[in-house]
Formats: sequence, C-alpha cells, structure tokens
Amino acid sequence: MGIRSVRDLLYFFPRRYEDRSQFCAVSDLRPGDTVTVRGEIISVKSRPFKRMSILEVTIGDETGWVHAVWFNQPYLKDQFAAGREIIIYGKVDFYQKRLQFNSPEYELVVSQTETVHTSRITPIYPLTEGLFQRSLRTVLKDVVGRQSETVIREYLPEQFVERKKLMSRAAAIHEMHFPTTFEKLGEARRRIVFDEFLLFEITLLKKLEELRTRYRAVELKEWKAVASKLRETLPFELTPSQTRAFEEIAEDLQKPAPMNRLLMGDVGSGKTVVEAFALLTAAASGHQAALLVPTEILARQHYRTLSGLFKHFSVSVKLLTSNTGDDARNRMLAELKSGKLDVLVGTHALLNEDVTFKSLALVVVDEQHKFGVYQRCRLLEGDPRPHQLVATATPIPRTLALTLYGDLSTSSLTHLPKGRKPIKTYWITRKKQGEVLDHILEKIHAGEQAYFIFPLIEDTEQSDLFAAKTEYDRLQRTVFSGVHMGLVHGRLSADERDQVMRAFRAGEIQALVATSVVEVGVDNPNATMMVIENAERFGLSQLHQMRGRIGRGAKASECFLFGEPTTDEGKMRLRILTKTQDGFLIAEEDLKLRGPGDFWGARQSGDPLFLVAHPVLDEGILLEARESAMELVQGGLLETSDEWNTLKKYLEEFPLRY
Ligand code: ADP
Ligand code: MG
Repeated sequence: MGIRSVRDLLYFFPRRYEDRSQFCAVSDLRPGDTVTVRGEIISVKSRPFKRMSILEVTIGDETGWVHAVWFNQPYLKDQFAAGREIIIYGKVDFYQKRLQFNSPEYELVVSQTETVHTSRITPIYPLTEGLFQRSLRTVLKDVVGRQSETVIREYLPEQFVERKKLMSRAAAIHEMHFPTTFEKLGEARRRIVFDEFLLFEITLLKKLEELRTRYRAVELKEWKAVASKLRETLPFELTPSQTRAFEEIAEDLQKPAPMNRLLMGDVGSGKTVVEAFALLTAAASGHQAALLVPTEILARQHYRTLSGLFKHFSVSVKLLTSNTGDDARNRMLAELKSGKLDVLVGTHALLNEDVTFKSLALVVVDEQHKFGVYQRCRLLEGDPRPHQLVATATPIPRTLALTLYGDLSTSSLTHLPKGRKPIKTYWITRKKQGEVLDHILEKIHAGEQAYFIFPLIEDTEQSDLFAAKTEYDRLQRTVFSGVHMGLVHGRLSADERDQVMRAFRAGEIQALVATSVVEVGVDNPNATMMVIENAERFGLSQLHQMRGRIGRGAKASECFLFGEPTTDEGKMRLRILTKTQDGFLIAEEDLKLRGPGDFWGARQSGDPLFLVAHPVLDEGILLEARESAMELVQGGLLETSDEWNTLKKYLEEFPLRY
C-alpha cells in the first residue's frame, strides 16, 4: 500500500471512524441495530456445523445475556475464557428465535482505560487483500503510541503553533488515528490540513520565485498586427473577454520573464481563438510555438482550425501524434530544428525526447485538466524558458486558482460568444424515451444533428449498461432507418475516427453514436441535440464537458439524460445538470461530491495531491496557510530565522514532488 517507513504509517490515516464509545444494555438490544456491548463471558462452546466450526460465546451484563458466534476461528476459544470481561461491536441479528451477534468485532478488556478496537471512536482503515482491520489497528496503536515523542517532531515554532491555535503535530497524528472525542478529531484534522497546505504553498512559492529570478524568456513583441488581422479574418466579432485575454497575454509575452498564465473559460467560450492569437504572436515575432492537446481527435481538429486560420498569416503549422508516419515525422523534426516550421500541434507525442526546436518561445496546453496538475512538461525546461499558456474548461474559484497555481495569472472568458442559446437539459425516464427519439428524428429531418453517447463500446456479460455498437445497430434498424449514422469510439484507429468526425462536421453524418471520446473540445456548431445513455455512470464535470459539444451555434440545443441512478449522489448529479449550465457552479458541486483526489489529478508518485485536505471545503485553512507561506518565503523567514530552521530541514529531508 505504499507504506515503506514508520513515517508513511503515521500518515496512513483512517478512511472513516465509527463511534463505538457508547455501550448498549443487553436488555435494549433490537435486531438490526449496530451497537457496542460490554459484559462478562459466561460460557464458551465450540461445535461443528456443516463443514465449519462454530464458536458460540454467551455474554452477559447486569440486564441480560446474548450470544455471539464466530465461524471457523477455533483459535479464539483459547482467548475467550469464562469470567473475562469483553467488549463486542456489530449488528444484532435475530436467529432461531434469539438475539445473536455474527462475527462481531471484539476486544478483551485488559486495561480499564485504553481500548483499541471497540468502546471508543474507532478508526476504519483502507485495506488491501490479506490485510485486516484488526491487525492494522493493533500495529498503528503500537506505533502511534511509541513513536510520538521521537519521530513526530514538531517542525513549526512553538509560538506560531500557539498563535494559530494549532494542535501539536504529535497530538494531531495521535488523534487522527485514535480520537478521544470528535471535537479533538476536528482540531487534529485542522492541523494536518494546515500542514499539507503550508508545505504545498511553500514549495510552490519557492518554485515560482526560482522561475522569476533564474529564468529569462524571449520577448515576443509582434502582437498588434496579429490582433488586428485576426479581427479582420475571423467570421465573428471577439467577445469582450476574448479581447481582454488578448491584451493580458500580449502584455506578458513582451516581458523578458516567462509568462505563466491560466486561461479559464467554460466549454464553448472560445478559447481556441485566444490560443491561436498567442501562437501567432510567437511566430510573427520570429520564434516557434507548440500546442499540446490531450486527445488525438482534438489535436486533429485544432490542427485543421489553425491551418485554415494561419494561411492568412503565412505561418506554417504541422500535426504530430503517435500515429504520424516515420517519414513525415522525420521531416517535421528536421524542420523544427532548422526553424522552418513555426507551430507544432500534437498530443503527448510532442513530449518525446527527440522533439527539439530551434527556438521554442511559447507552449500552449489545451484542456489542461486532462493532463493533471503540474504534469512535468519537458518542453518547458531550457533557458531561455518558453512562455506558458494553460487553458482549462474546468473553472476553479479564483482564490483557489491563485493558491493552487501560485501566482500564475489568470484570464477568464466570462462572456459566451454572441447569440448562444442556453441548452435545455432534461432527465428522461425510460417510458418517455420513445417520444424523445421521435422528436430528435423530426429535427434531424429539419437539418440538425445529434450525438448519442454511451458508456461502453460493446455489450459485455458482466454489465447491463448500454453499449455504443449495439445501440448503433438497433437505432439504425429501427427508429433511425434512413438516417445517416456514424459510430466513433476509442477502439477505432485514429484515421477512422478522424474520418467519422470529419463527415459529422460536414453534415454527411446526421446522428453520431459515440463513447466519451467526444468529451473534450470537439466542435460542430450544427449539432444541437445530445442523448446521454446511462448518464448516472459519468461524473458531473464529465457530463458538463460532453454537453458542451452542443449549444455551440445560433440554434437552440437540447440535452437528454437517460439514466436511473440508484444513489442519492447520482440523482443529485443529474438534477444539478438539469438546473444549471454554469461550469463554475458545476465544478464546485463536483468537487464537493467527488472529493479532491480525482479532481486534482495525482502527484508524480501517484499519491493524491493532498491526503486529507480538500481544496474547496477547506478553503479557509488554505488561505491561512498561504498567508503564512508567503511570510516565510517572500519575507525570507524560512531562510534566515532560527525558529524556522526545523521546518526548513524537514522540507529538505522530505521534499514534496508534484
Ligand atoms: P472552447 O472554449 O470550448 O475551446 P472553441 O474555441 O472551440 O471553444 O469555440 C467554440 C465555437 O465558438 C467555435 O465554433 C468557435 O469558432 C466559436 N466562437 C469562438 N469565439 C466566438 C465569438 N467571439 N463569436 C462567435 N463565435 C465564436
Ligand atoms: Mg477548446
């Protein structure tokens, strides 16, 4: 489980806790309750049962007695002697007319003050095969108790801890594992969260300072002509947000320090044009630029859009993906090296060692959330260091963006392009699906296009989810006979996928059946309808992204969610989607529903970015920690003050990597 040292173990926190601190009198037991009982062992019997052995223990307190049974654990017999005091925890069953606990958790009372498994707020740890709750808990109790003085050094100055009203580090770790009260657990969690944010922010701020002071960038000044020509060339007027983003980017690119800018804009807000502006400015200033894109479909689409646009500027652009043939690739690499090629668009293939530029001055990363936070990007090394523009459709609250990305500046596209109509979203029951299909058919006949999204490519025996291939056949044979349909999914070759997407854009395909491969970036303004089957299977942000494929033109769009979620969370997701199209709100809800791990991607080691902290729910602590980190790094305290020396050493010994 990635636990290699005592320190790892100390930070291996429980997944949740169970309150087993209240005892239930035997006379109050009711079937179905999950309770703790404390009593004396009255008798112990073992007998064979079918091919098992059963150990039956009778436990009594002042109010009555009850049975507890364990299966196939004959060795327990030696531990359970009549007369000993025992605590059991579990669900009360009703079996053969009497109350009984089946394999409850148990603990023999050794000391009157300290218990581990029962009779307390009990930690429940994540497990793996062959590792048992009971053994892990025993080990942790031993380690936490034994190590607190020596290993869990306090690395924050005493006065600081007092001023911030923090629990000591050792006490916090102890309380996280074996809380004395829920109130104490809350305080402990606050300390751990504070530490996680503090160390994160210190590391981030130091890195940024290094970036600012140590690296220079190429000054890219030729933006004016680019901007005015773009305005002439584009078939639409820029939104006020796009105009502002142009200005902000132009300002940064002219400076001799590397730009580090986040471009936030909901799906369909028009980020591509802004990216194109930056790329063109680099080329017009006599240097090269790269556009990094998460998927092949999107890379090809961007390549096509940019090729069209760049013609007016005599700027050359090529596409590099893992499917690019050797000859073409070699030619491209040579042109990059000689400086003949201005802009390179591509997928992860750009990050390959042998892709080297003559003068790379700008790297744009599109749909950055698909790559994970701070994925190391080889292209961004070197001196002078390329400017960086990172685009994301997952809007993050502003304070949070500032905090997590350091002083990465942000440009937000808050205005949608003119004439966009809101997408109407409906959650459809099975009964009504026929009507929806008829309605879609009518609109297809009127010249509009539709997406049908499925969670699987093919039917499997293990799952009753709908599959793209099967439903494609079924629709084509039934309701949609006579409609031109296309099918696209992850198992097609890149060329096949590209062909289908092209035909869809050209209107030759009227209804496109797809898996979530269409999730990011795909742009066909004439597609106005989307059906998402088994919608309960997708995450909130993912659904929002998929829905963003429609509502991109001047016509009104509709999204139909087919699905029967069984959990409250699943229902909540679909309900939120029918209520709002605000990506900002959806991202926040998503964070709350999902927790930070999935959302923020992973550190390089594969650990979550934060073990305990939640960047939205713990925003207050985050801001506090950030303030302290700024005092330490920018105020120089960390380097100069003796008080902070322990923390400085700690960070050197255990550096964060992400
Ligand atoms: P995203 O922010 O999701 O990447 P795109 O850049 O793909 O959005 O833009 C979505 C669609 O809106 C494209 O068809 C694009 O040509 C169009 N578009 C972009 N900016 C404007 C604008 N200012 N006015 C009208 N349409 C625009
Ligand atoms: Mg985009």
